[in-house]
Order: sequence, then C-alpha cells, then structure tokens
Amino acid sequence: MANYNVLYRCRYDMAKTWCFLCEQCLKKIKNEYQESYQYGGTWKAVKKK
Ligand SMILES: [Zn+2]
Repeated sequence: MANYNVLYRCRYDMAKTWCFLCEQCLKKIKNEYQESYQYGGTWKAVKKK
C-alpha cells in the first residue's frame, strides 16, 4: 500500500477491529467476504502545508 490519498475503513471476517484499505484491496475484500463485509467510511489523508 503506497501513496494513496484515500483509504477505506472496513471490517470483515468477523474481525473486532477496523482496518484501512486502498481501493484495490477493498474491492478484493468485498468479493471475498460478501457475508461479513462492513463498510466504515472513507478516510482522506491530510495534506501537509
Ligand atoms: Zn491496498
């Protein structure tokens, strides 16, 4: 995972904690864990001034 400005918070496979995925990983997880997949919102990286 490198240089992504936006991350997707999600939970799957009955995990108790949220994890952050890039768009590619999110699509994979969505397909693999259709039953347990939970979406927790989008997280944008804060740009440093
Ligand atoms: Zn990724």
